[in-house]
Amino acid sequence: MREVKFFDYPAIYHRFKKEFDSAFQDVCDRGAFILQRDLEEFEAQLAEFVGVKYAYGVADGTNAIVIGLRALGIGSGDEVIISSHTYVATAAAVHMVGATPIPADIDENFMLCAQSVESKINDRTRAIMPTQLNGRCANMKALGEVANKYQLIILEDSAQGLGAKYLGQSAGTFGKFGTLSFYPAKLIGCFGDGGAVMTNDDDVAEKLKLWRDHGRNDAGQVISWGTNARLDNLQAAFLKIRLDNYDEDISRRREIASKYHEAFCDISTLTLPSPPDHNSDHFDVYQNYELAADNRDALRDHLNAHGVKTIIQWAGTPIHHFEELGFGKSKITDLNRTDWFFERCFMLPIHMAMSDRDVDYVIDVMRKFFK
Ligand SMILES: *Cc1c(COP(=O)(O)O)cnc(C)c1O
Repeated sequence: MREVKFFDYPAIYHRFKKEFDSAFQDVCDRGAFILQRDLEEFEAQLAEFVGVKYAYGVADGTNAIVIGLRALGIGSGDEVIISSHTYVATAAAVHMVGATPIPADIDENFMLCAQSVESKINDRTRAIMPTQLNGRCANMKALGEVANKYQLIILEDSAQGLGAKYLGQSAGTFGKFGTLSFYPAKLIGCFGDGGAVMTNDDDVAEKLKLWRDHGRNDAGQVISWGTNARLDNLQAAFLKIRLDNYDEDISRRREIASKYHEAFCDISTLTLPSPPDHNSDHFDVYQNYELAADNRDALRDHLNAHGVKTIIQWAGTPIHHFEELGFGKSKITDLNRTDWFFERCFMLPIHMAMSDRDVDYVIDVMRKFFK
């Protein structure tokens, strides 16, 4: 029996060990730990890759959202509509600045649904913040139309969206700010926590920079409130190496997704993510391969018994089910697609350490279950 891990952390290091080791030595030799050259270079490289004017490295993907919301002055009395199918961090960031996260339903592609968003709008609503989930963009045209109609701003939790595109435009560039996470399991992960916040707006950019570093300007003077939410220079040096090789990762992820799609698309009890398609409005990068299965638990047991590890995203709880956070199934009863999805969803392994034999093995084990 083969074992196919869901994720392989040591493999991230061993893949570019020589480059990582030499970056570590170089940064340490220079004693360049906080807001140094490697960070500036990584930020410039990232901004160019995404096609955005400003990209700032920050402590993690959660702080990226908090800083973005602070820069826009979103806080007490404001509501921000988010997808219920997101990490708790999206909602927590909104809560942390004193605003209220309002979870909305998903559409047929499991992304934030524009109609559901519209049904949640009231006079406290300030912003719509889709999660660019699993390496895919939401329908930004439909969300943009709702935002225009009610004069709301668009913000993006694009923690999982690096390199994903909609109508040729990158995740993280559709609204006032977009965020990234470099948590190890993300599309480009570092060796610890890391994130970025991006914007095309000059004023917002200025504020993001201040919020990340104690409200200090380039001369080191404190000119506003701020916090400490910097990306370590050492992590930026590692991330440069990941970003240099990222195009290769995108092709590989799309290749695996395409194999999965071909192998499973005739199984009627599965609901698959959209396959990679060059003619579609979407260019997906498959941070995750998340699907729905009518008999999920039995299928996952079968996969596990054959060495194929799977997980359920967010440990199986969408935002609107969190009783402890003031939500709950009995209070929010209109997110039907999300409820349907969370009874069925799980994720198959899709990562850079997978060999073709691993992919074929996952396919074989899956298909055996349905025979
Ligand atoms: C990972 C993730 C975050 C949080 O990022 P951290 O770097 O772990 O703080 C936020 N939103 C989504 C959708 C994520 O996947």
